[in-house]
Amino acid sequence: MAGRTGHLSSGGNVTALTPGTGAGGDMGSIAIVGCGAAGTALIVHLAERQWKGIDRILIIDPRLPASGIAFDRDEEYLLCNTSVGVNSLIPREPDHLRKWLMRNPVCTARWGVPSTGITEHSYLPRGLFLAYLAEYFHSALAHAQSRGVYVDHVPASARAIESTISGVDVVTDRGETYPVDEAVVCTGLHPSVQTLRRQKVAHGRLWGAYETPRHVAELDRAKRVLVLGMRQSAIDAAQMVHEFNPDAEVTMASRTGRLPAVRTEMKESPSTVITTATVIDRLGPGLPGAVMRWRHLLKEQLRLHDPLGSLFPTRGTTASEQLRNDLDHARSTRPAWQRIDRNAVTVANAVWPHTPPEQRRELAIWFNRFVLRYVSAIPGSVADRLIASEEQQRLSYVRAGDALTFDHSSVRLASENGPLTFDVAIDATGLSAEPGNIRSSESRPPDPRIHRIGPAAVGQLAIPNYFNASARQAASLADDLTRQTISTCIGTMT
Ligand SMILES: Cc1cc2nc3c(=O)[nH]c(=O)nc-3n(C[C@H](O)[C@H](O)[C@H](O)COP(=O)(O)OP(=O)(O)OC[C@H]3O[C@@H](n4cnc5c(N)ncnc54)[C@H](O)[C@@H]3O)c2cc1C
Repeated sequence: MAGRTGHLSSGGNVTALTPGTGAGGDMGSIAIVGCGAAGTALIVHLAERQWKGIDRILIIDPRLPASGIAFDRDEEYLLCNTSVGVNSLIPREPDHLRKWLMRNPVCTARWGVPSTGITEHSYLPRGLFLAYLAEYFHSALAHAQSRGVYVDHVPASARAIESTISGVDVVTDRGETYPVDEAVVCTGLHPSVQTLRRQKVAHGRLWGAYETPRHVAELDRAKRVLVLGMRQSAIDAAQMVHEFNPDAEVTMASRTGRLPAVRTEMKESPSTVITTATVIDRLGPGLPGAVMRWRHLLKEQLRLHDPLGSLFPTRGTTASEQLRNDLDHARSTRPAWQRIDRNAVTVANAVWPHTPPEQRRELAIWFNRFVLRYVSAIPGSVADRLIASEEQQRLSYVRAGDALTFDHSSVRLASENGPLTFDVAIDATGLSAEPGNIRSSESRPPDPRIHRIGPAAVGQLAIPNYFNASARQAASLADDLTRQTISTCIGTMT
């Protein structure tokens, strides 16, 4: 533990968190369940607010705090798909990350990134972004220590979160129960049930997107590798395969056969067309559907940037044609989409709680089909690498379902081009946000002492899978937690 997280100790010594001191005292205790990027952002924001009213923080995570699966990668070619300008821990200071990079030229050089060329549109290696999170996490811990706020880490998974009269009990897979006043769940994304099921019947011929470094021996022997999925984690997987076996022929497959869009710049600019007011204004149970409203606003905004631009990809283009079209468009003088999407996501998330529940389902489907492509757009340099691999005939794309059959020597897939056979397969069909591994006794209405941020806040945001959204949630929750504890203290004093 010590190297990265300072004075945190590893479990076993947290028995002080008992009723009276842990839950229900004058000062507040908070359990942070899962402490990757979102949990780190919360800790940093609580420190910024001087931990008002809080005297104990319990981090429950089987991993090292401030690591998390989203950004804990050693490979310097695995880049964040969001740029320096939107990855700030402090959303009201969009330049926060860029300034940190400028102050840390040795660190950036270690990741192969010269700090002189960094702009708000730069895409960092994930591990370098994690170094930024870890440093601020570390400073927040030092600050906690100086203020007498006790922070501890239990290296275990939470299995259950239960409401009690005096607070919340977090039960771990080690069978221990930790009573706290409030709990924040930020467990991020994890392998989906389908991936785990496929893995069980695969005779060792299939693994999850980020397990590739553990399968170097299989990859070494493989000539044909299937990557199931065509989004960010699938693109990462394809790059990792070529890192370990440059001669492997990789086929990426998905039902739509579409790759995410491409971007070369990324900055959030408020728009006059898409604002919370213009969206909320027209949302209501009896009013036109939210989808129509969004479509109309996006088109209007697009016209301001590029009168000839089309809102969605042309039908019938292949993945490889679309990738080249997107890259040309992103590098053109009219890269309309990439100038719109940041603001569109922020507004979409802001209006989500005000969107009538009966309109949400349809809207979520629409966002997933159209907007997500831009939200998870890949940096231009990654698109260049994919195009180069394709030209060297080491990478191809195909449309196919996700039904695979396995035997001891091969993997078969039914595709639009007929049956295909591979030596091994990587399941990169997407990670799930459902915190299915945690049992919750939450009542309806939900217990206001149990909070969720990041992808774990399933249903609370239109587009949660975005660090910028997690940092905004963390800032607002830190406001609530400190305000709330202050008012609790005041209540106790009067
Ligand atoms: C591979 C990948 C790449 C991504 N790249 C980007 C990007 O470039 N830009 C961007 O904006 N977004 C990206 N995202 C989206 C990302 O999910 C969000 O940015 C989000 O903010 C990540 O923060 P998190 O803390 O929710 O998840 P994570 O950082 O993954 O942390 C989750 C933590 O919860 C812990 N945990 C899980 N289950 C339990 C349990 N039961 N008990 C206790 N602890 C538990 C895990 O061990 C982990 O430490 C990426 C996501 C993934 C998966």
